[in-house]
Amino acid sequence: MTLRTSIRGLRARRLLRLGWSQETSSEHPRRIHSTAMLTAAEDKAKAKTDTYKLLIVGGGSAGTAVASKFAQKLDKHFIGIIEPSQTHYYQPMFTLVGSGQRHISQTHRPTGSVLPDNCDWLQTSVSGFSPADNTVSTADGRLINYEYLVLALGMETNYQLVKGLPEALEHDPAVCSNYHPKYAQKTFPAMQAFKEGNAIFTYPNTLIKCGGAAQKILYMTEEYFRKTGKRDKATMIYNTSLGVVFPVPKYSKALYAQILQRNIQLNLMRNLVEVRHETKEAVFEVLGSDGVLETYWP
Ligand SMILES: Cc1cc2nc3c(=O)[nH]c(=O)nc-3n(C[C@H](O)[C@H](O)[C@H](O)COP(=O)(O)OP(=O)(O)OC[C@H]3O[C@@H](n4cnc5c(N)ncnc54)[C@H](O)[C@@H]3O)c2cc1C
Repeated sequence: MTLRTSIRGLRARRLLRLGWSQETSSEHPRRIHSTAMLTAAEDKAKAKTDTYKLLIVGGGSAGTAVASKFAQKLDKHFIGIIEPSQTHYYQPMFTLVGSGQRHISQTHRPTGSVLPDNCDWLQTSVSGFSPADNTVSTADGRLINYEYLVLALGMETNYQLVKGLPEALEHDPAVCSNYHPKYAQKTFPAMQAFKEGNAIFTYPNTLIKCGGAAQKILYMTEEYFRKTGKRDKATMIYNTSLGVVFPVPKYSKALYAQILQRNIQLNLMRNLVEVRHETKEAVFEVLGSDGVLETYWP
């Protein structure tokens, strides 16, 4: 943010702070749009500023939950939600799409339909924060002023961190990921098409949206293979970058019992570094080993 923009935001904020306490007979009595207060020069520069008692950045699961809670307490237009996407996904259901129990169409709704009616949806993304001024800037050139700010930006998937993975996800029907709506739809067809050999499941050495999702689909696939008579022909492998089955000891113990009971090969401290989809090879780095690599074939 430039100094000029910061100063402009600060001046607007001061005016707006006065505006909060004013009572008028307009439809939204306590919310004052700053655009009316901007100087001609600022207006010319298309500086459009709004102010909210509560500003929520991100309209995913967390953002909508916070908005719903506070919408019961605050008047109309006191809450602003900045969310660029027209589509709201319920991501935990991606696991059920992957295992063939739900259709992808059941996982999403129009964003407008899940946000509380008395909140303002600003359909853009945040491009900068200025906490000293209580403002955020948006991709469409607005400065938004807030009294309270909630950040609920979620996490992004970064498949490109693994060499060859974006290409494999696009072109190889046997490579899938339940962490993305497009690629979660590949999982069940891959389970159906599987005939024999290695079935590899993995957990990366980055932060991750759901720490349990990799194991959920592992156990569901194992059960599907048993029910469809393919289990004896499958070597089921769980390669995790962690040094334990699960970071919470109580659950780790229970899940390890599942791994033993289901005859799954468990390899700890394995991090996927490359996928060569033309030759169907997956390369894992053995963490803590000074660069030892292991290659798996079908
Ligand atoms: C396969 C899978 C299974 C899961 N299973 C479970 C489960 O069983 N139980 C469970 O509790 N959780 C589960 N989760 C995790 C759960 O989905 C997430 O914890 C939850 O969605 C996080 O909510 P969030 O609002 O923080 O992020 P999200 O729901 O991802 O929302 C973030 C929002 O921020 C928006 N955004 C991003 N950048 C900007 C920007 N610059 N400006 C404005 N907006 C922006 C995005 O468009 C998005 O709408 C699972 C996730 C996956 C992928």
